[in-house]
Formats: sequence, C-alpha cells, structure tokens
Amino acid sequence: LINGSVMVILASILISYILANATIKPMKESIEKERAFLQDASHELRTPIAVIQSRLEGLLRNPEEKIIDKYEYIEPALRESRRISRMVSNLMILTRADAGASMGKTEKFDLRKLGDDIAIIYSEFAQIQNKRFIYTPRKEVVIEGNYENLHQLLIILMDNALKYTKDEGMIELVIDGTKDKGIIRVLDNGVGIKEENLEKVFTRFFREDKARNRNNGGTGLGLSIAKWIVDCHGGTITASRRKEGGTLIEVQLPREPKGKGAKAAQPEKE
Ligand code: ADP
Repeated sequence: LINGSVMVILASILISYILANATIKPMKESIEKERAFLQDASHELRTPIAVIQSRLEGLLRNPEEKIIDKYEYIEPALRESRRISRMVSNLMILTRADAGASMGKTEKFDLRKLGDDIAIIYSEFAQIQNKRFIYTPRKEVVIEGNYENLHQLLIILMDNALKYTKDEGMIELVIDGTKDKGIIRVLDNGVGIKEENLEKVFTRFFREDKARNRNNGGTGLGLSIAKWIVDCHGGTITASRRKEGGTLIEVQLPREPKGKGAKAAQPEKE
C-alpha cells in the first residue's frame, strides 16, 4: 500500500512538473518577445528624438538669426517628428493586434473597387514622383473582408513600391483571382529585396538598409502590419524578387474568410 501511495505521489509530482513546464515555457517566450519588442521600439524612437533634440539646441544657439537661415535645423526636426508620429500609430495598431483584435466588420465587395480607389490615389503620387503607374484589374473578384483594413494593406504595399523605386521607375497593381481566392499583386522595378531577407521583411523593425530607410522615413513596421491584416483574413502574403529586377508582393485572400480574425468577427458562422 505504501509503495502504491509513493508511486501515486511521484506520478503526480511528475505530471505537475510536466504541466508547469508546458505552461511556463510559452509564458516565458511571450514575456521575452514582449521585452524584445519594447527594447526595439525604444531604440527606434531614441534616434529621431536625439535628432530633434540636437536640432532644437542648434536653433537656440544663435537666437538672433532669421528663420530662413535655420532651415538645416528645422527641416530634420520636422521630418523626424513626423517619423515618430508614424511609428507611434503603427505601434498602436500592432499592440491592438497583439491583444487579439479581430479584423472587425466584414462585407462582400469586388476587389476591383478597392483597386480603383487605390489607383486614383497612386496614379497621382506616381506622377508627382516622375514614376510610371500601371493598374491592371483582370476580372471581377468578389471577396468577403474588411474594406478599411485591406485599403490600409494596399497603402502600405504601394507606399513601399514608390519608396524603393528610383525616379522614372515603374509600379504596377494587379487585381486577379481564382475560383476561391482573390489575388493582389504589387510589382515594382526598384532596388529589390535580397534573397535571404524575403521572409524577414515581415518581422517587426526589420529593414534591409537601416541608414537608407531612415532617410526615406521608414519605420520597419509596415509589412508586419500588412501581414497581420492578411492573417486576419486567413490569407497569405509573400515577397519575391522579379527576374527583371525589383520586387513582387503577392497577397492571396480566401473569398470567404476562414482565418482566426474572421472567426472572432463572426463566431455564429463557425
Ligand atoms: P519600412 O517602413 O522600412 O519600409 P516595412 O516593414 O514596410 O518597413 O518594410 C521592411 C523592409 O522591407 C524595408 O525597410 C525594405 O528594406 C524592404 N522592402 C519592403 N518593400 C520593399 C520594396 N517594394 N522594394 C524593396 N525593398 C522593400
């Protein structure tokens, strides 16, 4: 009997140990992820804040100078404050995503309507930057999704296409589909992404060339937000190198969403 009780006690200790390990390990990992995120965010915010501080100090040094002569102090401070503002909005979106926010209200619409709205905005932007914009809506593709979120997704992809393409570059937006998928492609003939970074670009704060991207106002958060939006719709997003040079970002969305966000948004359908 004593032997039996010892066995039971040992077995329960073993089970509690295994259970504790199974719950503590993921908890530890998530705390570690959160710590790394906060560290990255603080680091990324420190640089523009330092620029603003030094430029404002420069402004105070010669108070008798006219504002027109102070452009070299004012312009970088303004640019960096805009970058902080963009970064904080992006961080807020990602924090909501981490808290398990769903994609929200869904509706059925033709992806070409989204494409048309984006094309109006970007044909103008491209023209201003002396770049060529091609819009190719291949067919009617009705999908169910959150229009606002998908609009934001395309803004991120199109902004990147413009940002990483030189003057006189080309940007193309393609709307396509299969029987059960909507497909969005954003192509450019810009600087391209290195083979080894094609997956990394979707991780937070990842930038191929930090110095260059800092100058163009990049925050390294756009594509992680894009991925979150696509995940919510139960779709996929991939980056690849075009053989002609440049980048292709392809998004595939199920016509009827089945992702985790979709579940949260429409529990009654599951
Ligand atoms: P960022 O704000 O720096 O553009 P993103 O998360 O949107 O951040 O993109 C991450 C990185 O992926 C960018 O810094 C850039 O190096 C690379 N990238 C994204 N889109 C493109 C593109 N169309 N062409 C070349 N590189 C790109």
